[in-house]
Amino acid sequence: MYENLALFIDGQWRSGDGRATETVINPATEAALGELPHATDADLDDALAAARRAFGDWRRRSPTDRGAILRQAAAILRARAEEVAANLVAEEGKSLTESRIEVMVAAEVLDWSAEEGRRQYGRLIPPRGPGFQQAVVPEPIGVCAQFAPWNFPAIFPARKISEALAAGCTCIIKPSEEVPASAIAIVRALEEAGLPPGVVNLVFGVPDTISRRLLASPVVRKLSFTGSIPVGKHLMRLAADNMVKTTMELGGHAPAIVFDDVDVDQVAAILTASKFRNAGQVCNSPTRFFVHEAVYDRFAAALAAAARGVRVGNGMDDGVVMGPLANARRREAIEGFVADALDRGAELLAGGARLENKGFFYAPTILGDVPDTARIMREEPFGPVAALTRFADTDEMLARANGLPFGLAGYAYTRGLANAQAVRDGLQVGLLGINTPQIALAETPFGGMKESGHGSEGGSEGVAGYMTTKFVSQLAL
Ligand code: NAD
Repeated sequence: MYENLALFIDGQWRSGDGRATETVINPATEAALGELPHATDADLDDALAAARRAFGDWRRRSPTDRGAILRQAAAILRARAEEVAANLVAEEGKSLTESRIEVMVAAEVLDWSAEEGRRQYGRLIPPRGPGFQQAVVPEPIGVCAQFAPWNFPAIFPARKISEALAAGCTCIIKPSEEVPASAIAIVRALEEAGLPPGVVNLVFGVPDTISRRLLASPVVRKLSFTGSIPVGKHLMRLAADNMVKTTMELGGHAPAIVFDDVDVDQVAAILTASKFRNAGQVCNSPTRFFVHEAVYDRFAAALAAAARGVRVGNGMDDGVVMGPLANARRREAIEGFVADALDRGAELLAGGARLENKGFFYAPTILGDVPDTARIMREEPFGPVAALTRFADTDEMLARANGLPFGLAGYAYTRGLANAQAVRDGLQVGLLGINTPQIALAETPFGGMKESGHGSEGGSEGVAGYMTTKFVSQLAL
């Protein structure tokens, strides 16, 4: 059964009472799943007051106590994984296999943060004179405002909430209105695990209204946003007024570099799986494929054949690899990118059209010899399209790969040490996979460079991002 949609403020589930609502849609069928209540101004003010009040006690709890609640919530989430995954498919569209993995990763993230909270050590600095003690003491930064996007409805809320809580912070989180069920399930798990009222507050509504009201409040000390670069810049401007610390995980346009010394079929298979995961709606999805001219034709043919073999359909159906796009906006955007590239002389190697009458389906698409002037080579496509281009000289290729303001992820496939070293030294990205698409784990930091953002989630860096340091210089009298 689909989730009972509600806000969670100061330990209470709130809905109805004349609140505005919006309809959550299944992107595979366009059927309505439920009505999501929007927070009123009074709800947001209550959330701010509750988070501020709860911070007083929560920050003083031991990291072990805080971690026990997070770990218990992870266990509850795992026990409900099937139901949560099915709801995730229904509202976001990705396959059941991917959704199950996502829910289990979300639980793992809660566990990781629980443990990482116990490792916020601080340090002692050797003093210059006798009787001095110089200590750097980490402290939770305070109340956090968090905004999560629609492409990973379970992992992003799990990361943001658990890292804040493990650090001793309290939070108000606004997940995406289009995919609210997973975040609600995570908050229910935390509630059942014994989380005190006010520590997590969950709100939905008109994003701009919510972010303006929360960030206008001096109560908020940290902003964490995952989403598009323009919205990230807008939120940073709002955060500047109260000098709020920010973590920004924004868009990417990942180069996937294929050198001439690889097994072309093997690399085409790896890149097909990573390209069409979540229908390409992944910030670190490989998007610009730089392929060495010596293997370009063979690689393009192998990739196109593999793309044509990707089974597309309702994510709940057996054997489906790729579901619909998550919303109608995304499909229109992809149609625009493909039309523009073809107008500018790109070659259509696979896909390039809508599928099905109902639902936001679009075929896995491969574009060959895409000119650098095409929009898809400059703007993040965020969909199931790979844009291929040739290269001969590594330095020139790296200059093109680095020529955009993005700097989130990059991938290179090669057997050559010199090639790997050139990419490792030369590519301006926060996440680099050499001969592997594996760049996101609970224990590794995830974040970008340049306009792709700053700060990281995951790894030791994730929880540390919710701390501030106090330097204490003490002299015994
Ligand atoms: P969008 O720019 O309208 O919104 C992006 C996200 O920001 C959404 O989750 C939205 O709810 C939220 N948002 C929008 N305005 C906000 C505001 N004023 N305050 C707080 N949150 C706000 O775009 P979209 O159509 O939803 O998504 C498409 C684009 O977003 C993609 O092209 C991609 O670049 C980016 N995106 C990136 C990620 C990521 O993982 N980095 C995830 C989802 C979307």
